[in-house]
Amino acid sequence: MGAAADRSERSLVTCDDITRMYQQNESRFSRGGGNTVTAIEDISLSIDTAEVVGIAGPSGSGKSTLMHILAALDTPTSGTIEFGGTDIAALSDRERTKFRMETVGLVFQRFYLLQSLSARGNVALPLVERGVSRRERRQRAETMLERVGLDDRVDHRPRSLSGGEQQRVAVARALVTDPALIVADEPTGELDTETGKRVLDALIETTEDRAVVIASHDRRALDRTDRVIELLDGGRRE
Ligand code: ADP
Ligand code: MG
Repeated sequence: MGAAADRSERSLVTCDDITRMYQQNESRFSRGGGNTVTAIEDISLSIDTAEVVGIAGPSGSGKSTLMHILAALDTPTSGTIEFGGTDIAALSDRERTKFRMETVGLVFQRFYLLQSLSARGNVALPLVERGVSRRERRQRAETMLERVGLDDRVDHRPRSLSGGEQQRVAVARALVTDPALIVADEPTGELDTETGKRVLDALIETTEDRAVVIASHDRRALDRTDRVIELLDGGRRE
């Protein structure tokens, strides 16, 4: 079997000609009255299991829009996105949320940790809605924190952690459910080089059956990926 055929068999996410338009200044009193912004246009791509893919491009080129669609947080205005054979746009909001919870781990530029919980509590949180027992939640959260090098910080509140440490907590939280896809939007955007590197180490520590997509305009982050998809003004630059 040729390499190309082998790769396509392992394809995890496939986007075909996806376009996302936003209505600006639209209110329920002026439907369709606002300006239309085309954030991404006719993007096609395929991501394989075990691949680390970078999404590059200047500010406003559509990276976050694409990431939200890849993470099943949003759906395209036109075009299709298939995830392991599931047509994401055909799901109801509720089904899509369930699908996302089961399949995707998210990391954002701003860590979005809950200040009222310890590092362990933050990492364990996605396991609560999955009905995992308290004892197992603690165990799995601690294992994940150890993996990102924070075993001595499990009881710390986010406020008492550095930015890089907080982002590693966020990475542990994304990994704790063992998702098929990690979507990280500017994960090193607020970090200096050294702490950013440790975050990427944690993020890219892949398993055979997980893909990682990282949107960034940080060259050092993009250099760690297997390949880079470049966006310019909402389109793909080859
Ligand atoms: P990037 O992440 O590369 O900076 P974005 O995906 O955030 O790019 O934005 C792409 C384009 O879409 C920009 O022109 C931006 O202003 C526009 N855009 C993004 N989100 C919205 C929104 N919710 N409403 C209107 N326009 C938006
Ligand atoms: Mg962005």
